[in-house]
Amino acid sequence: MAKKTFLHLDSPVQYIKGIGPKRALYFSKVGVESVQDLMRLVPRRYVDYSTVMKIRDVRINDDATVIGTIQAIEARRTRKRMNLLTVQLRDSTGSIVVKWFNRPDLKKRFNAGDSLLVSGKVTFYRTNQFINPLYEIIGEEEYGQQVKGAIIPIYPLTEGLSVWDIRRAVKIALDECLNETKETLPQFLIERNGLLPLQEALRCLHFPDNMEEARAARERLVYDEFFFFELTLARRKASSQHRAGISFQVKEVLTKKFMQGLPFRMTPGQTRAIEEIVEDMGRDVPMNRLLQGDVGSGKTVVSLYAILVAIENDYQAVLMAPTEILAEQHYLVLQELLAAIGIKPYLLTGSIKGRDREVILHDITSGKALLVLGTHALIEEDIAFKKLGLVVVDEQHRFGVMQRAALVNKGMDPDFLVLSATPIPRTLALTLYGDLDISTIKDKPPKRGEVITRIVKSKEKRSTFAFVKEVLAHGYQAFVICPVIEKSDATELRSVQEASEEIKEAFPDFSVGIIHGRLNTADRMQIMNDYRLGRIAILVATTVVEVGVDIPNATIMIIEHPERFGLAQLHQLRGRIGRGAQQSYCFLMLNRYLQADTYERVEFFAKNNDGFALAQKDIKLRGPGEILGKRQHGLPDLSIGDLEQDQGLLFRARDDAFELIKQDPDLILAQNQTARAQLELLAKKAELLRIG
Ligand code: ADP
Ligand code: MG
Repeated sequence: MAKKTFLHLDSPVQYIKGIGPKRALYFSKVGVESVQDLMRLVPRRYVDYSTVMKIRDVRINDDATVIGTIQAIEARRTRKRMNLLTVQLRDSTGSIVVKWFNRPDLKKRFNAGDSLLVSGKVTFYRTNQFINPLYEIIGEEEYGQQVKGAIIPIYPLTEGLSVWDIRRAVKIALDECLNETKETLPQFLIERNGLLPLQEALRCLHFPDNMEEARAARERLVYDEFFFFELTLARRKASSQHRAGISFQVKEVLTKKFMQGLPFRMTPGQTRAIEEIVEDMGRDVPMNRLLQGDVGSGKTVVSLYAILVAIENDYQAVLMAPTEILAEQHYLVLQELLAAIGIKPYLLTGSIKGRDREVILHDITSGKALLVLGTHALIEEDIAFKKLGLVVVDEQHRFGVMQRAALVNKGMDPDFLVLSATPIPRTLALTLYGDLDISTIKDKPPKRGEVITRIVKSKEKRSTFAFVKEVLAHGYQAFVICPVIEKSDATELRSVQEASEEIKEAFPDFSVGIIHGRLNTADRMQIMNDYRLGRIAILVATTVVEVGVDIPNATIMIIEHPERFGLAQLHQLRGRIGRGAQQSYCFLMLNRYLQADTYERVEFFAKNNDGFALAQKDIKLRGPGEILGKRQHGLPDLSIGDLEQDQGLLFRARDDAFELIKQDPDLILAQNQTARAQLELLAKKAELLRIG
C-alpha cells in the first residue's frame, strides 16, 4: 500500500517532520505559517557552491566566497572607540580572519563551531582578511554532504533556524504537497509572459539546477505578487465606476470669495490640480483622487478649494490628518483662512471629550458643522453626518482607501481626495495607486528660501550653536527634532528631555518649549500657538511635527540622529523650514559613528532637496513597505518584488491586470477562474492581517 500523506497545503508547518511547535514559532517570524507559505518562501539569494573557494586559494583583492568553521570569536574596543569583532574561520585547507566594525550584535549570533559563509573583498593586514563581508550562518557541520557544487538558496533567517532546517522542511513540503498546488494565473498570461507554471516555479525556487532556473522561478513569483496586487486595484477602480456619486458644481459663492481673499496667487501647478479636481467632482461617479506634491507645494489650499466646492453645494466636508497635532495645526490655520468667508471649522479628535464632544457631534448630525477636522478616528467611529460630500485625507495615502470602504458600508459614498507629500514618479504612482486618479503639483510657490543642509560632527556642535544663536537673535525660530521622548537604558539615543536640557543651557537667552505625542491636546495647542506667535524661540520635538506644521518664521532645524529616520521622513521634517522667504538651515547631528552605507544615506539627504528624488531613493533602499505604510490596507502584500529592480515586470503585471478587468470586470469567464479564486484567497488573508 502506498504511503498515505498527511500534510496538506494548509497544514501548519509544525506538522512537518522535524519542526514541531517551537521551530514553527521561528518560521512564523519570517511569515511562514502553513506548508503553502513555506513553499512560497522566496530565498534572499543563492550561493553557487561551485564558486566557493578554498581558503588556501584566496588572494588579496579577490572577490571571494569561502565557507569555514568558526574557531574563535573576539570582541573588543579599538583605540578610536569602535567596536571590533574578529572571527577566525577555518576550512580543511587553512584559516582566515574576518572582521566586523561596529556590529556588536553579531557576537551573539555567532557560535564557535558554526559553519559560516562569508563573501567579500579580500584585503591584507598582517594576514589575509575580510572586512565587513556579507555573511550567512549556515548551521552545524552538515553542509558538506548536502551541497556538492549545488546552487543553495539562502533564506531569510531568524535566530533559531538554520538554512538547513529550512531546506529540510521545504524538501518534505515539496515532496508531499507540490502536486496539490493549484495554478493561480490564467494560462494565456503564463504563455504571454513566458513564465514558469507555478509547480515548476516552486521546485526551481528551492532546488534549481542552475542560476537561470532560480531566476525564472523568482520572476514567476514576483509577477504573481504584482499581478494580484494590480488586480485588486483594478477591481476597486472598476467597482467605483459603477456607483453613483455626487455631481458637484462650482457655484462661485464661497470659492470665489476665497480666491479673492488669498494673500497670494495660485501657482500653475495648483491651478491645474484644482481644475482636475473640480472636473472630477463634477462627474456623477465618486471621486477617488490622489494629489501629490512636494512638501510646501501648497496642497492644503488646493484641498481647501475642493472643500469649499462641496460646502457651496450644501454638503459637509471632512479633513483627516494622520496625527492629532496635525489636525490641531490645520484647525488653527484654516480658522484663519476661513474667517473671512464666515465658515467655522470644527475640530474633533480623540482628546476632545465630554460636553465639548457632545456639542460637536450634535452639530455634525444637524448639519451645522460644515467642515470637520480630525484624525482618521473621525470616520472609524460611528459619527452620523447629515450630508457628507467630501473627505480629504492628508498625508496618509493608503488610509483613505480603507476609510472609503468603511463609509460605503455605512451607505455614504462621498468624494475622496488623498494628499501625499511623498511624491513618487508618475509611472510608479499609477502602478501603486492604480485605483486612484492622480494630480501632481510639480512647482512650488515662488520666493521660497532654499534650505541649506549640513552634517554636523560632535566637534562642530559649538560653532553650530553659535551660528544658530545669531539667527535666533534676528527673531527667527528653530526646531530641534529627537527620535525619542525620554532617555532610556535600552538606547543611546538622544531624547527630547535630554536635548531640551542641553538647549536650555546653551541658549539661556531664548525661550525653549517641548512638544510630543504624550502631551494632551490643550497643552499641545497652547505650545504650538505660542510657537506660532513667536513666544517660543526653540521648539524641541519628536516627529509629531513631521507633517504639515507650517511656521514660516522657523528657519532652523536641528535633527538629532538623522540616521534613525527614512529619507522621505527626513524630507518631511525638513519641509517644516524654508517656508518663508528667508534662507533656512537644517543641521544633521552625528552623535556617533555611522556605518558607511548609513552615512551615505544621510549624505544623500543633505545633498538633495527634491522630494521626488528622495522618495525614489527611499523606495530603493528600504522597500516600498516603509513608504506606503506597512499594511497595504486590504491589498495583497508586496514582499517579494523589488519596485525598482523588477519595474518592468510590475508594469507588465499592471497592464495585464487592468486589461483583464476591462474585459471581464466581474471575473466570470472560465479562463479567469483560477485568478478569481486566488484573489479571494488573498483578500481574505489581507483582511485577517488587518484585523490581527
Ligand atoms: P504642503 O503641500 O506641504 O501641504 P501647504 O499647503 O502647507 O504645503 O503650503 C505651504 C505654505 O505655502 C503655506 O504657508 C501656504 O499658505 C503657502 N502657499 C500655498 N500656496 C501658495 C502660493 N501659491 N503662493 C505663496 N504661498 C503659498
Ligand atoms: Mg500639507
